[in-house]
Amino acid sequence: MRLLLVEDDAMIGEAVQGLLRAEGHAVDWVRDGLQADAALRAQRYDLALLDLGLPGRDGLDVLRALRARGDRTPVLIATARDAVAQRVQGLDAGADDYLLKPYDLDELLARIRALTRRAAGRAEPAYELHGVTVCPATREASVNGQPVVLSAREWAVLEPLVARPGVVLSRAQLEDKLYGWGDEINSNAVEVYIHGLRKKLGAGFILNVRGVGYMVPKP
Ligand code: CA
Repeated sequence: MRLLLVEDDAMIGEAVQGLLRAEGHAVDWVRDGLQADAALRAQRYDLALLDLGLPGRDGLDVLRALRARGDRTPVLIATARDAVAQRVQGLDAGADDYLLKPYDLDELLARIRALTRRAAGRAEPAYELHGVTVCPATREASVNGQPVVLSAREWAVLEPLVARPGVVLSRAQLEDKLYGWGDEINSNAVEVYIHGLRKKLGAGFILNVRGVGYMVPKP
């Protein structure tokens, strides 16, 4: 997934960015409210993790502006434990959920999974086709009941496809989920990961629509 991390604390930012990248996500990290606003206008994100106390422009302000222009990007706000009023204002301004700082990184990942699943309109977290089951929420995959291990980057390519079965995604759309700003883009990375996924899950699991992109069939 492509995530925006808005955090002015360098230590927290580095830890969270490292964690999210290790999970295979593309992460753009900005450190003030003005950059956050610019990023949200320039790029479509699967989710924004928004600190509220920010230099430049307050996080609440950034959130209100986002919702005012009808943008429904899922937003998870991070607030101090004692800042109840701020939390309430954040939810009222259109945040989808909140985390109390300092937050647990496993909880962060779980909330990101829950929010992006909800945004995709899927209550059912697993996708099943011809004996292949994949569950992005728990990062579990199996073929005919046998567990299969996928890498973080393979999940990054697979997630957007199984989130919308029957919809063709272009190579550029999949690259968007693999790379953040400033990351060096490997031009055939998507093909390499698709090849790996087909080897593990079966050749028919991901279809190549020539000249257009890739899709998984509707179950
Ligand atoms: Ca802050």
